[in-house]
Amino acid sequence: MITLHGKGVYGGIAIGRLSFLRRRGVSVRRRTVSDISAELARFEIARERALSELDELHGKALRNIDESGAQIFEIHKMMLEDDDYVDSIVHTIRAERVGAEYAVATAAENFSMVFSSMDDPYMQARAADVRDISHRLIETLSGKREESAQTWSEPRIVCADDLAPSETVQLDRESVSAFITAEGSVNSHTAILARTMGIPAVVDVGEELLDAEDGSEAIVDGFTGKIYLSPDKETLARMQKKQEEDRKAKALLEKYKGMDNVTLDGKKIEVFANIQGLREVGAALLHDAGGIGLFRSEFLYLDREDFPTEEEQFQVYKTVLQSMGGKKVVIRTLDIGADKQVGYFGLDGEENPAMGMRAIRICLSRPEIFRPQLRALLRASVFENLAVMFPMITSVTEVENILSQVAEVKKELKKEKLPFSEEIEFGIMIETPAAAIISDRLAPLVDFFSVGTNDLTQYTLALDRQNRSLSHFFDPHHEAVFRLIEFATESAHRHGKWIGICGELASDLSLTERFLRMGIDELSVSPTYILPLRDKIRNTDLSKTKGEKI
Ligand code: PEP
Ligand code: MG
Repeated sequence: MITLHGKGVYGGIAIGRLSFLRRRGVSVRRRTVSDISAELARFEIARERALSELDELHGKALRNIDESGAQIFEIHKMMLEDDDYVDSIVHTIRAERVGAEYAVATAAENFSMVFSSMDDPYMQARAADVRDISHRLIETLSGKREESAQTWSEPRIVCADDLAPSETVQLDRESVSAFITAEGSVNSHTAILARTMGIPAVVDVGEELLDAEDGSEAIVDGFTGKIYLSPDKETLARMQKKQEEDRKAKALLEKYKGMDNVTLDGKKIEVFANIQGLREVGAALLHDAGGIGLFRSEFLYLDREDFPTEEEQFQVYKTVLQSMGGKKVVIRTLDIGADKQVGYFGLDGEENPAMGMRAIRICLSRPEIFRPQLRALLRASVFENLAVMFPMITSVTEVENILSQVAEVKKELKKEKLPFSEEIEFGIMIETPAAAIISDRLAPLVDFFSVGTNDLTQYTLALDRQNRSLSHFFDPHHEAVFRLIEFATESAHRHGKWIGICGELASDLSLTERFLRMGIDELSVSPTYILPLRDKIRNTDLSKTKGEKI
């Protein structure tokens, strides 16, 4: 078995045979022409024809996909009508006295280079679109246009070096179980189409993909971006199970998408998503999250050589907020330390890192790390509905200290005329017994609580959450933890604040009713748990006495 790694652009599992789409390359020669007007007329005719083909593709996409899938061809039409693009081709034909094919190929190269060098990933991805429309023009000019859709007798995993949006639409949905490309980006229109069409897809797998044999067995995991070539039995069984779970989740989605998380007797609760980074925002949206309840921002600091700059962080937070379109996004400030060690932080080795220099303790001792993150968060707040949450709180003094730093950063930004929102909510994690026990003192200081049951359980039971050999002492349903959560809930509500749970217990369906009865306002879980949880909530009746079957 060989495992290849790419970027998953649409979650889903496909098990089947590979089929390579080998497209005919159109080679472009630099041809000198004597009749410039005739060449310009040839280009104009080809452009008109390409525009009407795009109209047809638009109609086809409207029928087979949907409005947003079809929009791509509107964008392609706009590009073909773009003055800069057209002028550059006309200019090359006139100035260099060359054939239209060559002039189009030159424009394709230049414009795709310009797009690729832009900072904005969305604009970078437009390079593929410019190549697609230029390819269409060149084929039309050289009389090699061919739009036949490929079909197979059984659904195939379609592989290619790259796929243009127009090629993706040509694929017959019924005969394609997934697609994989050696190149491509997660923001490309092809990736957007894959998501719209609901086809598991992995892009940017690398050249190794092209060495795989046509017709060989493979598994595509669109969630992780992994491709298993000639999978072994164990992997096959594991992936079949994952495929089945995915089917169930998708069925739930069909049933529950857009619905409230409301019990049979009318009690509503928010269900949000936990994410580790930008790449999971898509999954959160796909599973119909009401918001992001925990963005573990420390993942921005992992797997790199130096601190992310304020600007880098700002871009990430802004993208998450914009993508969530006004839904609440709770970003937790960095929680480095304990199990998440990063060399460049230069932390001293510790006997007991879980009880050591971790999370807010690092931030409060090292303003040069904390301040850029606070500035980036505050600046991103103009993109709406940001909530900022601080981890590993144990005392009132810590919270006061944090809030005074926030106030200072606000002053700084005002002075620099950098905008931020005054509507940001500030909350803390309740994940130490100390915080839970003094939650009545902490509640007046903040806007919300979010219970981190993973650490709260570890610290309450004095049980290292990383140590597997302690598993038989570990009771995830220990009464002590519930009492602490209950007390924190009462404290929050007494002061008019909301409380959520973002630790793993939030997705334990055997506890959903208990949390609902406690009055928890929000549960934040991994994206794939959102709909099973909604299903559970919608089948719970709190008007019946506890334990009574419904
Ligand atoms: C928790 O402790 O429950 C939590 C959500 O935080 P993390 O798992 O990132 O420590
Ligand atoms: Mg924690």
